[in-house]
Amino acid sequence: MAIFFQKCNFNCEYCHNPETIKECINCKKCIEVCESKALSEENEIICWDNKKCCDCDQCIKTCPIDSSPKTIKYSITDLLQEIERVKFFIKGITVSGGESSLNFEFITALFKKVKELWPHLDCFVDTNGGVDFQLEVYKEFVETTDAFMLDIKAWDLEEHRALTGVSNENVIKNLIYLKSINKLFEVRTVVVKDVLNNALTVKNVSKIISDGAIRYKIIKYRSFGVRLDRAEKLRSPSKEELMELEKLAKSLNVKSTLII
Ligand code: SF4
Ligand code: SF4
Repeated sequence: MAIFFQKCNFNCEYCHNPETIKECINCKKCIEVCESKALSEENEIICWDNKKCCDCDQCIKTCPIDSSPKTIKYSITDLLQEIERVKFFIKGITVSGGESSLNFEFITALFKKVKELWPHLDCFVDTNGGVDFQLEVYKEFVETTDAFMLDIKAWDLEEHRALTGVSNENVIKNLIYLKSINKLFEVRTVVVKDVLNNALTVKNVSKIISDGAIRYKIIKYRSFGVRLDRAEKLRSPSKEELMELEKLAKSLNVKSTLII
């Protein structure tokens, strides 16, 4: 089961779900454009009725801050009820986003409950690694999480800043740290043609994760879901270019690779 959290501390040029970056400011503009009457306002908060929604995404296209009204506020009890319904059909829970780690206290409490009730379920975190997981405040969060899936978007600091708006200092620290404590399940790099030094990133990540069971997922940039002005600027790599990068990772002893 994947749980997506709203809000992100990065602002990636190629973000595939940019409507998850900012939280809604309740300006109500989207209510007017929803022909399915799936949006309403209650106590100054936008409410989304997913049963009425036809997924036309007119609301998202209208939102002045690139947010989305298609979110639901869940308590831990609400989420446990959702998990209870599907517990026989899933292997575990993955929290994603947005950036899930911005809600680390909520997630720690959720994972603790999941482990208490259904010890067979894995609790995974999908993260951009932007916060420093070695800080004391994240200790319990890291301990409660079974494994992390970490994005390494660019190895070069300035390239990372241009792509995401922030430094990659914590990201690289987290790569080394999570591997050292055996909590790194997978690393992902999205490959964009021409604008990123993809080989530099794959080479340096591979050197760190080599000889382990950590999977390296090499992901082809696709314009699907990307903000229109950005989609025009960015280009997808060819299959051959992706295979070259996979070959580079394998030459540095990465045992498990996947191109998607
Ligand atoms: S996607 Fe948005 S605008 Fe379209 S029906 Fe759903 S809530 Fe309404
Ligand atoms: S989702 Fe966007 S348009 Fe709708 S109320 Fe929130 S900020 Fe306004």
